[in-house]
Amino acid sequence: MEPGVRLLGLDGLPADARQNWAAARVWAASQAPYLATALLALQPLVVDQSGVEGDPPYDLRRLPVDQGWRVYLDPYVLTDLDVPTIGYWLVHQVAHLIRDHAGRFPGAASPPAEGDGDLFGRRTADSVRWNVSADIEINDDLEAGDITLPPEAPLPGQLGLPEGWLAEQYWHALEGRSVPEVDCGSATDARPREWETNQPGLDGPSSGLIRREVARRVLEALEAGRMTGGWGLWAEEVLAPKENWRQQFASAIRRGVADAVGRLDFTYERPSRRASAAQGVILPSMRQPVPRVAIVIDTSASMRQELLAQALGEVNGVVRAVGIGRRELNVICCDEQAYDAQRVLDARTLRLEGGGGTDLGEGLRAAAELRPRPHVLVVLTDGHTPWPDRPPAGPRVVVGVLDADGSVPGWAKRVLIDTGGKK
Ligand SMILES: [Zn+2]
Repeated sequence: MEPGVRLLGLDGLPADARQNWAAARVWAASQAPYLATALLALQPLVVDQSGVEGDPPYDLRRLPVDQGWRVYLDPYVLTDLDVPTIGYWLVHQVAHLIRDHAGRFPGAASPPAEGDGDLFGRRTADSVRWNVSADIEINDDLEAGDITLPPEAPLPGQLGLPEGWLAEQYWHALEGRSVPEVDCGSATDARPREWETNQPGLDGPSSGLIRREVARRVLEALEAGRMTGGWGLWAEEVLAPKENWRQQFASAIRRGVADAVGRLDFTYERPSRRASAAQGVILPSMRQPVPRVAIVIDTSASMRQELLAQALGEVNGVVRAVGIGRRELNVICCDEQAYDAQRVLDARTLRLEGGGGTDLGEGLRAAAELRPRPHVLVVLTDGHTPWPDRPPAGPRVVVGVLDADGSVPGWAKRVLIDTGGKK
């Protein structure tokens, strides 16, 4: 923390700032009643920058939050902004927390390199791009609801992007573009900020409970017609019971498609209509392509055929639920070799080939080479197979594993398929 900055409790706020804070919380809860539990869980901390000579080092106009559900209040910000604007930022910040943007940060695996910003102070380009992506995911849904956004809250349209996407899709679309230097705190990317306390805050299980409570209230409000907007899908995913593998499967495929569509299809294959205006610069197309899914089925001797057939029937439903046309479904059988891809209208009519030893690496390789290239590879296996060290280049991999003891590599999303049958 910069010299002269102090972290205080709520009683460190002057009376007028404290009044605005209290009024803004009430405003926020009345505008978004489904978020009330989450709003009440926020722990305020006051960042007193009055002891600093010259300009205050930290810009806290967005009321940044950390992963422990602390919200950092600057007394000057609270007296300067009007109550609805403070209230809006509270709603916005709570949305970062309950949508787990810190856990979803795609740049998490690549920590800042030397010279590329640092943990404190200057932020890395990855963090800023993800912050903006998460912001427009949130604001989009808030605007579709009843919340009035202040002018400084960014919307997808202002960046020339379509509405209704996930932050992951915006993140890919914004690659290489200049974005506003915003900071909503470590709740967006799990990287500590200089003004944040290192005391333990709200723990994971508690925030999980709040998430579920908010999700329940969102679904109630949607059913009662009291709200609209893009919270519904989120709430359904949160409430999907862990043992419901169909929903887990659907949500893993959906996320994989969202991610891969961004990565693969914001290429320059299809110039957008704005291209001519941009003087020789070809802009990526913003058309959302149809998701393409390929299925690799482990048909080695260790797989029980009737279980496999049953799982295939379920996959049909999942694939349909995710909105994938039958045309887009390619299936590759694989034991120790990959067999020719089959385009089937119904996975149950598949010709199951195989029966030998297992090497699913062959099937993954064959599936990744399909053209047009699949966005997501779904693998059905008992997990008793060697796996390649690395994922195939391009598509995301979701593994439906039929045996709880089977292995799934860390680079794939694992979903345990419990068909309810005997083992
Ligand atoms: Zn934000």
